[in-house]
Amino acid sequence: MKSRRIIVVGAGPVGVVAALACAQKGFAVTVIESEMKVEDSPRAATTHPATLEMIERIGLIDQFIAQGLVARYFQFWDRPARTLVAEFDHELLRDETRFPFVVQTEQHKLANMGIARLRQFPDSRIMFGTRAIAVRQDSSSVTVTVERPDGREDLSADYLIGADGGRSTIRKGIEIEFEGYTFPEHFLGFTVLDDFQSMLPCCFRNYFADPAEWVNLFKVAGDDGKGRWRAVFPTRTGETDEEALSDEAMHGRLQRAFPIAKTYDVVHRNLYKVHQRVAAKFRSGRIFLAGDAAHVNNTIGGLGLNSGIHDAMELSETIHLVESGQADESLLDRYERRRRSKRCGSSRIACSTRIARDR
Ligand SMILES: Cc1cc2nc3c(=O)[nH]c(=O)nc-3n(C[C@H](O)[C@H](O)[C@H](O)COP(=O)(O)OP(=O)(O)OC[C@H]3O[C@@H](n4cnc5c(N)ncnc54)[C@H](O)[C@@H]3O)c2cc1C
Repeated sequence: MKSRRIIVVGAGPVGVVAALACAQKGFAVTVIESEMKVEDSPRAATTHPATLEMIERIGLIDQFIAQGLVARYFQFWDRPARTLVAEFDHELLRDETRFPFVVQTEQHKLANMGIARLRQFPDSRIMFGTRAIAVRQDSSSVTVTVERPDGREDLSADYLIGADGGRSTIRKGIEIEFEGYTFPEHFLGFTVLDDFQSMLPCCFRNYFADPAEWVNLFKVAGDDGKGRWRAVFPTRTGETDEEALSDEAMHGRLQRAFPIAKTYDVVHRNLYKVHQRVAAKFRSGRIFLAGDAAHVNNTIGGLGLNSGIHDAMELSETIHLVESGQADESLLDRYERRRRSKRCGSSRIACSTRIARDR
């Protein structure tokens, strides 16, 4: 089976997990990434128990936990009353999973550790600074045209996985609709060095409800391991991006939600659109879509990242079953049947709620 090659477009967390899982099953793999390195701006970090089991299967779990924060609880708060409403305890899943907790490890760390592992496979090729611009296929192969600073090239393989994010060139190239809608408000994420746990008895994952303005607080380890918090807010209707990202609006939002006697130490701010969209098809012949290329959803809860990793694992297993002769080609359609029907909510979280007043 070594002679079978799979091209993965996109070195985000989903593409890298797909590539590594395929390499571990004996496929030769080529990863194509348009950027010069893995994108490391603050994005998803929350990794649920079922996904941790998958990260264990690809042999990265110890590193993954070591580079993140273990979050046993998550909490819902009433923001105006500043009271805890409910706390969920993953420990109640102990009999069902080896990982009765969430791990907050930033997605770029997973991608980077996966690439380092992938480089150990002599048949793997990782091409940064290489953009996929077109794709075509026939009954026996798929060919992607890539563009680099030194020119264009055609690369061929037996299969191609489009894990090239929400604006997927591969999805557009095979003319698959991205059905759904975009939320009217944008999300604002501020990364701060100030410690919210010194202000209120929250945990590492907190959701604050408020009829006027919700806010979520998450702690991540940071690249230096010293810990930092992300506060996520919605923008107001009619608020421009410039306004929302201004110092004045940012500090105003943080201080109104969590007043402190000093100026917040903000190390990163970002603003992004939030969509609820699913590709009309996840498979076209030898081409598959996975991760954000196949589905995007509200980012709260990390379901985009988690369900994307589930796509990657299911897809590598499905192609392996077919190529190793354990199943016939019709199994390839099962990937779409299973993953598309799950849309974005694939995490197996069955935590029990403990109402705060009963504690
Ligand atoms: C700004 C932003 C903030 C987010 N914040 C959160 C958050 O706080 N919490 C949360 O849970 N989720 C968040 N998300 C969503 C989460 O990051 C995604 O669900 C997750 O990244 C999906 O991983 P992926 O590998 O499918 O796609 P991506 O991480 O988008 O990776 C796709 C990769 O493909 C590459 N690529 C794109 N086009 C091409 C091409 N033509 N050729 C070659 N390479 C290409 C890109 O450079 C990228 O590296 C955020 C997303 C964005 C965009």
